[in-house]
Amino acid sequence: LENGEFELHYQPQLNLKSGALSGIEALVRWRTPDGDLIPPGQFIATAEESGLIVELGEWILAEACRQMQCWLAERRFAPNVLVSVNISAKQFDKGNLMKQLDRALDDTGLSPHNLELEITESTMMRSADRTGRVLQALRSRGVKVAIDDFGTGYSSLSHLKLLPLTKLKIDKSFVADLPDDPNVTSITRAIILLGQSLSLETLAEGVETSEQLAFLQREGCDIAQGFLFSKPLNVAQFEDYLSDAIAGGVRPRRVS
Ligand code: C2E
Ligand code: MG
Ligand code: MG
Repeated sequence: LENGEFELHYQPQLNLKSGALSGIEALVRWRTPDGDLIPPGQFIATAEESGLIVELGEWILAEACRQMQCWLAERRFAPNVLVSVNISAKQFDKGNLMKQLDRALDDTGLSPHNLELEITESTMMRSADRTGRVLQALRSRGVKVAIDDFGTGYSSLSHLKLLPLTKLKIDKSFVADLPDDPNVTSITRAIILLGQSLSLETLAEGVETSEQLAFLQREGCDIAQGFLFSKPLNVAQFEDYLSDAIAGGVRPRRVS
């Protein structure tokens, strides 16, 4: 952190009805002094155990807001596009998340309407009362809240109804087995219907094939994210992606 060795990469999320860019997920990487790029799977758990995730998370939130505000100011995409930031359980529990958030929004000038936080089911379920209060505080500012890796953890359906959530992210382990595994197609269909009946948007992560995309479009999933459209990209690569998108490249391939 002191040496500025962390960087954020961004992965597009596409609206499956309009084909437009709906959001971008910020994903952290560690660039070592040797130039190697270390994925978050190799250091987030350690950062959580040591408590450093709070500081790292604060930097991630501030940097994602700063970059997003910069791209919005440059009119690189529509004013309703979201930047989505992963929040770890420790960060959520620590109690200073709202302070971190207010500071990030104040310092960067980003509108809370352009920000979405991603929490996992287990984070959501840790302390239902506290979660409710934090989520209410977020929603009252206009910040959106998505449940990440939905379907892999344990969550009580009554919480989904009670908590002010905005989106369910269908875990990529389900998407990977679409559209051939009959159990997985049933589960995915059920999650999409659950989202629809609770007025939550559904986003499928890890979409890699046009067959998966066709199934998700047919079943009414709202948004998709995955290598089929783009890997997470560094800032320069993402700006190139956006330029290509303006030239017509952003639309998800439509499958009849
Ligand atoms: P996640 O939030 O569920 O992020 C999605 C992960 O799936 C990313 O891995 C992304 O690169 C990968 N992915 C995207 N599309 C595809 C696809 O089509 N196929 C496959 N196989 N994978 C795909 P990444 O960047 O390695 O991040 C892994 C996890 O690390 C994240 O899962 C999240 O839990 C955590 N993480 C990443 N960035 C942050 C962060 O800034 N803060 C915190 N607290 N956690 C983070
Ligand atoms: Mg995520
Ligand atoms: Mg996920």
